[in-house]
Amino acid sequence: MTIKLLSVASEIYPLIKTGGLADVAGALPGALAGQGVSTRTLVPGYPAVLARIGKAKVVRRYDALFGAPATLLAASVHGLDLLVLDAPAFFTREGGPYGDDGGNDWGDNWRRFAALSRVGADIAADGVKGWRPDIVHVHDWQAAMTAAYMRFGPAHAVPRVVTIHNLAFQGRYDAAIFDALGLPPEAWGVDGVEYYGGTGYLKAGLVSADAITTVSPTYAEEIRSPVHGMGLDGLINGRVDRLHGILNGVDTAIWNPADDALIAKGYNARTLSRRAANRRALEKQFGLDADDAPLFVIVSRLTWQKGMDLMTGAIDHLVGLGGKLAVLGSGDHPLEGAFLGAAERHRGRIGVRIGYDEPLSHLMQAGGDAILIPSRFEPCGLTQLYGLRYGCLPVVARVGGLADTVIDANAAAMSAGVATGILHAPSDPLALHGAIAHAVHLHRNKPIWQGMQRAAMRADVSWENSAARYAALYRSLLAGAA
Ligand code: ADP
Repeated sequence: MTIKLLSVASEIYPLIKTGGLADVAGALPGALAGQGVSTRTLVPGYPAVLARIGKAKVVRRYDALFGAPATLLAASVHGLDLLVLDAPAFFTREGGPYGDDGGNDWGDNWRRFAALSRVGADIAADGVKGWRPDIVHVHDWQAAMTAAYMRFGPAHAVPRVVTIHNLAFQGRYDAAIFDALGLPPEAWGVDGVEYYGGTGYLKAGLVSADAITTVSPTYAEEIRSPVHGMGLDGLINGRVDRLHGILNGVDTAIWNPADDALIAKGYNARTLSRRAANRRALEKQFGLDADDAPLFVIVSRLTWQKGMDLMTGAIDHLVGLGGKLAVLGSGDHPLEGAFLGAAERHRGRIGVRIGYDEPLSHLMQAGGDAILIPSRFEPCGLTQLYGLRYGCLPVVARVGGLADTVIDANAAAMSAGVATGILHAPSDPLALHGAIAHAVHLHRNKPIWQGMQRAAMRADVSWENSAARYAALYRSLLAGAA
């Protein structure tokens, strides 16, 4: 039997993306199709989404969704079967999906994402035009309230899965908004949406879920501790029998070094020398010296979570060892300034591009020798998976999904020929310095480095195994609900 799945997400590649969540929401439906799961994804009708869906069918109308008119549109684009919530009062505005261009969150995010979630629960209850989901899978705090609306409404018998992509973002609001959410009074309380005296969207989703998943086995363990649990470790420990760590994969059609229109020259594990053309293109883009020194890259949000403060502190060390660095990212202004300052100090050795540039991110993986990811925590991480696939060896902190996907170049792994990168712990300056030095050292020996590149490119980073695990989880929930 084909399972009909409703996925609810606040971003989806290639229509709207701020991070890994969009990649997952965009890639999982295709991978699940091979497992007998057909997915429709509910997303907000941001301008970028409406512009791309072309002619769409109206499948439901709201006169007053949280006080504003809205329509639900059905459209197929890029192989994705979408339900788009066109609610101009909430989603038609300049800026990002969650805030303005100055980085300030929209003040009505509580209402915008409650509206999205409310509609998700309505679809679960009533279906659209004869299509009704067997199961509902929602992503992160922006969609998590779907599970609460379902639990306290007519769709309470439909199984629901909540996936945590990052526990640092929880959707916490004042208690006063509760009355506007349209939930019954019994939804308030420790077993409902109440969270430390306020309203917690992710929390509400987690207590309302039949299954909780997160995006790597190690992160699933880490979030049970106070350090990584961010206030929710008690709740998560109480529901650990429902918790699953399922690794993200990558869309291997979009991220394929042998056939990637966004890079200068295609290559595979047997034609690594062709990477040189990508390296030269990258050096040119970043104004870096054209030489064979180890070329490190960073493609990242520039934040504390990603260890970017540790990174700016390590730049002089990296240059002192003879390395070069190309940085693509945006985020905290002091960190942006620190990277730009380093580029001034080390002309030809450090290049920095502040901004978001999807095509350039491909060239960086294709032309770089190693990608640096010194995260303090990392639920899964995708850039190390792209690095593996492109032979841009990950030099990463031993946390979360980074620990699960990169095999450290220790003596045992090197002699077995299975090392795919360098892991360091803890996430501190000394360990990061050591990892950079180790990478520079290994890079001097071309056969060794290329052996690691080939091992990395052989690693299975596809969605296949993980999609099978999600499908098995859905089937077990359906069997339990039947
Ligand atoms: P997170 O979702 O926590 O930011 P992930 O590693 O899971 O981190 O996913 C980040 C995604 O966003 C990857 O696809 C990465 O290539 C992309 N990305 C991050 N910053 C940029 C940028 N400045 N330009 C282009 N792509 C970026």
